[in-house]
Amino acid sequence: REEKPISSGSAPRRKTHAVAVPGNTGPVIIGGDAPVVVQSMTNTDTSDVEQTVCQVMELVQAGSELVRMTVNTPAAAQAVPLIRQRLDDAGIHVPLIGDFHFNGHVLLQDFPACARALAKYRINPGNVGIGESRDSQFATMIDIACRYEKPVRIGVNWGSLDQALLKRIMDENAGRSAPWPAPSVMYEALVTSAVESAAQAEALGMPADRIVLSCKVSGVQDLIAVYRELSVRCDYALHLGLTEAGVGSKGIVASSAALSVLLEEGIGDTIRISITPDPGSSRAREVVVAQELLQSMGLRNFVPMVTSCPGCGRTSSTLFQELASNTQHYLREQMTVWKNRYPGVESMNVAVMGCIVNGPGESQHANIGISLPGNGETPMAMVFEDGKRKTMLRGDNLDEQFQALILKYVQSHYG
Ligand code: SF4
Repeated sequence: REEKPISSGSAPRRKTHAVAVPGNTGPVIIGGDAPVVVQSMTNTDTSDVEQTVCQVMELVQAGSELVRMTVNTPAAAQAVPLIRQRLDDAGIHVPLIGDFHFNGHVLLQDFPACARALAKYRINPGNVGIGESRDSQFATMIDIACRYEKPVRIGVNWGSLDQALLKRIMDENAGRSAPWPAPSVMYEALVTSAVESAAQAEALGMPADRIVLSCKVSGVQDLIAVYRELSVRCDYALHLGLTEAGVGSKGIVASSAALSVLLEEGIGDTIRISITPDPGSSRAREVVVAQELLQSMGLRNFVPMVTSCPGCGRTSSTLFQELASNTQHYLREQMTVWKNRYPGVESMNVAVMGCIVNGPGESQHANIGISLPGNGETPMAMVFEDGKRKTMLRGDNLDEQFQALILKYVQSHYG
């Protein structure tokens, strides 16, 4: 297999088929030389057009480049074209992906407007049918995807693995299967399910450059092992995600640990961070985490990065924390306007430091940096631009003064 460096970083990237996911303003490319794509999934009832449109907008606003939604009932299938139309009317052309389980063959057949409105279909080979019906139902979905020229993701999940295939693999590995298949047998079943289903789709007329594969598991080491194997067994574009990663920081850490190892090895063309949201919290957090993961690894830039120290006994008031937090929020908010007006601004580095121990040095490494003196939280701070001391700020509104300097810097360097 040929390996080549990705354009925005130094890690070698596995060469995969480039899959064009159609969109009204041009396709989103998954795989090939394209940057790793950030995607997410709604958790609204898809039949609720209003709520789903709102959440898609929220995810897109946060930076999701593809949005998947469950299509599980006739009402959900009927809602899909309405959601598409509402988004188009609002000027939001993000490709929508339909997530199908159990009855996808029926819904795609019965609701052609839904089949047309979706840009891509996710098919789970573990629950597309059982026995003989499995093959015909899978074929129905592939036929419809071919008819409308839609790409598919063949998405295997170890929570819904094809049981007949698992039994076959276990039989082939007799002696290693009781009482529960050894991990290596499970890995083999996951990868085999994905690769064999993709081969079946190709035999039915689906070109390789319209197939994305995923093999999701919930354990970090399991995911790494499975995708390493998958990446040497095929050249399909790969969707990475740690499924059922968990709540809050556990989900973020586990997803980041697994995905960063794989991305560093050049494996993965699109990612989704699957964290269980706290009740009432924004779904968009998973998009922010995905972006920050890619940006921390030097694979893509989305929003200027803030380098800030943790603070210590030298920053005992909240002055420093507020300065760091407000700067980060300011940059993310501004990006909605800046990304079109100031090309390249997303790669800017900003330092916010608590005292003179590391503050001046770190600030000099950034495009623009600020360092408090660290002597009793005196409301004054040195500002550095391009490695040189620029000015000393004083007063109770250091964050506002610093934001004004950031804006001037952006206008003069990226305008
Ligand atoms: Fe503490 Fe200063 Fe280091 Fe920040 S830079 S952690 S304030 S010593």
